[in-house]
Amino acid sequence: MEVIKMEDLGCNCAKCLVAEKICRLEKGKGPSSCPTKKEGPTLAEALERYDDPEIKEFARAASVQEGSCYTCRDVKPFVMIPTKSRMEELIEFSQRMGYKRLGMAFCGGLTHEASILSEILEKHGFEVIAVSCKVGGIPKERIGVKDEEKIQIGEFESMCNPIAQAKILNQAGTDFNIMLGLCLGHDSLFLKFVDGLTTVFAVKDRVTGHNPMAALYTSRSYYQRLMKMEFGSPEEMKGQSVSKREE
Ligand code: SF4
Repeated sequence: MEVIKMEDLGCNCAKCLVAEKICRLEKGKGPSSCPTKKEGPTLAEALERYDDPEIKEFARAASVQEGSCYTCRDVKPFVMIPTKSRMEELIEFSQRMGYKRLGMAFCGGLTHEASILSEILEKHGFEVIAVSCKVGGIPKERIGVKDEEKIQIGEFESMCNPIAQAKILNQAGTDFNIMLGLCLGHDSLFLKFVDGLTTVFAVKDRVTGHNPMAALYTSRSYYQRLMKMEFGSPEEMKGQSVSKREE
């Protein structure tokens, strides 16, 4: 597939300032770079994928789930009143889909949280197959990590093994998978190798209690360094294996 450069595409819905958007309103408008206006063939191709009965049912159930997360939906003028946590949604959606066996790929650093999640899901009748990221106990050296690049220099550290997590869940034939706190990058590998549909319960953020949005919400105040500080060139980042404390 030909890869189109971003500058040629010019698509940036995140910066779209149109008030009555064509993607939200039947008679809405869009800027010249609007993908709803420009990307007809791709949109048609994507839409066809929903004709697969399994995909269609999954998409339908996800949208029904979405709607069910608000109350007073028949009261005008509409005011959004959300009612459900993601935990409740996960249970409801899995029940809605008739899933029995849930896979969980979790970070070893969140074993406590994984055990609570597992217990709650089991209480609601699901069978849970949970695999820690450290599965296999393989030393980090196996993937070329140097001693000075470890979290605790000089110690044995087993590598995160998202490919094994994915393969074990594939082998177990899970109906649906849940990612819990996998590291940035390890989560990407898990998603690349897992067969079944997967949802994210939480992403790893070591500083914000696994709530990366906190950095965005405070990016005009306590996290203004995100816009002001340089993080270094790719070369500098590659050479940066030892923490400041160690220097
Ligand atoms: S699809 Fe078009 S109208 Fe909708 S947000 Fe993107 S650019 Fe704006």
